[in-house]
Amino acid sequence: MTQRIKAIRGMNDILPQDSPVWQFLESRVRQLLSQYGYGEIRLPIVEYTDLFKRSIGEVTDIVEKEMYTFEDRNGESLTLRPEGTASCVRAGEEHGLLYNQVQRLWYTGPMFRYEKPQKGRYRQFHQVGVETFGMGTPDIDAELIIMTARLWRDLGISDLVTLQLNSLGSNTARAEFRAALVAFLQERREQLDEDSKRRLESNPLRVLDSKDQGTQAVLKNAPSLLDFLDAESRDHFEQLKAMLTAAGVKFEINSRLVRGLDYYCKTVFEWVTSALGAQGTVCAGGRYDGLVEQLGGKATPAVGFAMGMERLVLLLDAAGVVQHLTPAPDVYVVSEDATAALLLAESLRNQAPSLKVQCHCGGGKFKKQLKKADDIGARFALILGESEISSGQVGIKFLREAREQITLSQTQLHTFFAQILAAQE
Ligand code: ATP
Ligand code: MG
Repeated sequence: MTQRIKAIRGMNDILPQDSPVWQFLESRVRQLLSQYGYGEIRLPIVEYTDLFKRSIGEVTDIVEKEMYTFEDRNGESLTLRPEGTASCVRAGEEHGLLYNQVQRLWYTGPMFRYEKPQKGRYRQFHQVGVETFGMGTPDIDAELIIMTARLWRDLGISDLVTLQLNSLGSNTARAEFRAALVAFLQERREQLDEDSKRRLESNPLRVLDSKDQGTQAVLKNAPSLLDFLDAESRDHFEQLKAMLTAAGVKFEINSRLVRGLDYYCKTVFEWVTSALGAQGTVCAGGRYDGLVEQLGGKATPAVGFAMGMERLVLLLDAAGVVQHLTPAPDVYVVSEDATAALLLAESLRNQAPSLKVQCHCGGGKFKKQLKKADDIGARFALILGESEISSGQVGIKFLREAREQITLSQTQLHTFFAQILAAQE
């Protein structure tokens, strides 16, 4: 027997019974972003590897061990995008969207990271990302966070998420903090996990987001980044907190929140939930004022976030917000004359575009076709027998009501469904 080919581990199919919850989430997100005046940008899935190395940073989980990198046929190194910010900055620069302008952009699509697959962590996953450019003041940081808080309300999951907030300060402030952190950790080097020992030399801030429990215990008494903030970053952070408080958005300060990418400065935040086990972050972001310049553009303030769609779908499931049902058709057309059935279905779709009409295809006797109509959950079966066809009429069988079958002319049929639809609205 031929061996079956399966999907790649960590890359999921989303089946028809699961897509209603995805569609619900996607439509709420689109509505929200248009409400706030964000424009959609569609970006390629593959980019030059250097784009991610230069933006995310060489000594990060993503670049060190998670990228899907391969050589193109002409020997160039390409990578399946692990995130969208770098591509968004690249595209913005390439098309002159960033120079001396204010932009509010968003994108969605699959991202790829070679991670250990588990609940809420996959190798192909989906993000909605939001990036803003040209605004350095804390009001835009606040707007982004207030917008996400509105989304949780719209989705009915506000009770399941909390906001964690931190400030990473300026480059200078971080350098001073780094020195203090390294001095502290050097004295406790033996208690750190292997990755952290290595990062102590290469990128010590990364030690703060180690997931190792031993390392986390050591970090409890480590110096706090917030004590090293420069005056400007401190002021920015204070204003942001005041704006969030004024808008009624609750937050917790987490001074160890550094985010797994190199490009952040000042504000960083994560929306976390305890409903999904270890994979608790559903939305994460921050300010990256240095990135545009780092990728060859003019210095441009920027702040954004990305949310993990699979984790949000899991949360919506946990909250029971959407029923997993493929919607049943309103009408199921049954006939032994396939052409007559197809034409009747077409004319109904012309007359009543919002009616869900399914035509029985695949042949078979009336009885079998009617059973199918019932099994599938249709409300009406439209019956076209020989006598109906010759007299230009249609039989209607009520599959969900105790009501006698009726026979209508084709014109009466349209009025009948117009009334049904009007009653549904
Ligand atoms: P984590 O700490 O969980 O690894 P991260 O800091 O690597 O997350 P980001 O790069 O900030 O994640 O991506 C933003 C969001 O995308 C995350 O908060 C999460 O919701 C989602 N996400 C990241 N990696 C994955 C993955 N492998 N599978 C599913 N969702 C993911
Ligand atoms: Mg990660």
